[in-house]
Amino acid sequence: MAIAIVLAGGSGSRMNSDVAKQYIMLKGKEILYYSLKTFQDSDCISDIILVARPEDMEYCKSNIVEKYGITKVSKICSGGKERYNSVYNGLCCVEELSKDIEHEVVLVHDGARPFITQEMIKSSVDNMIFGSACTVGVPVKDTIKVVWEFNGELFGKETPDRNTLYQIQTPQTFRYKLIRMAYERMLSDENHNITDDTMIVEQYAGMCCKIILGSYENIKITTPEDLEFAEKIVEKNL
Ligand code: C5P
Repeated sequence: MAIAIVLAGGSGSRMNSDVAKQYIMLKGKEILYYSLKTFQDSDCISDIILVARPEDMEYCKSNIVEKYGITKVSKICSGGKERYNSVYNGLCCVEELSKDIEHEVVLVHDGARPFITQEMIKSSVDNMIFGSACTVGVPVKDTIKVVWEFNGELFGKETPDRNTLYQIQTPQTFRYKLIRMAYERMLSDENHNITDDTMIVEQYAGMCCKIILGSYENIKITTPEDLEFAEKIVEKNL
């Protein structure tokens, strides 16, 4: 059994919406509901820590957790300025919930990614029997270029071999002791440039993360076009 940290502490400014994107309705239910429900229904998950903006914590409790009976949410904590601050706040709640902190496993998941599956959660947790860090991802479909800017124009600098490139998603799963130690080191380094938790483990614990096959439907809803695609996915899965 593992603990899921579900992140809903962002504002989602690229969505051009009055409400934060995780609370936008997707076929009658909030985007955030979908991943919470999948964790709720998973035999691999004992508890969920929900990370929300301070002003949204009460809304999350009554309008999502209680309304949909997501009883595994044992803690709602406040998010921070950057995504990694929100993850760290979630990590700080793990010790009070864990029954075996030495062996505890945590899954960090973006609340803006509604389409995780039971298989993704199970494979991630199963992987922790022998491993310490893994992430869900999919092979990139397009050719990717490293670019540089000159006089306000963009130029391709180099083209990495596409067969070596994966697009990384969440959940990202770690032994608690490892991710906590890596976070403490990262936060005491003023010059970090972090976009993802697997990066923290690579850079501050010197470990690589196993990649588990995710799904092209495991999208993070960022722009209005993503919401249209998400509606089609929900309709297809009804
Ligand atoms: O902004 P972005 O799409 O990268 O956010 C990914 C996830 O991280 C979202 O679920 C968002 O709510 C969460 N987040 C957070 N705290 C922040 C920024 C983002 O919990 N400060």
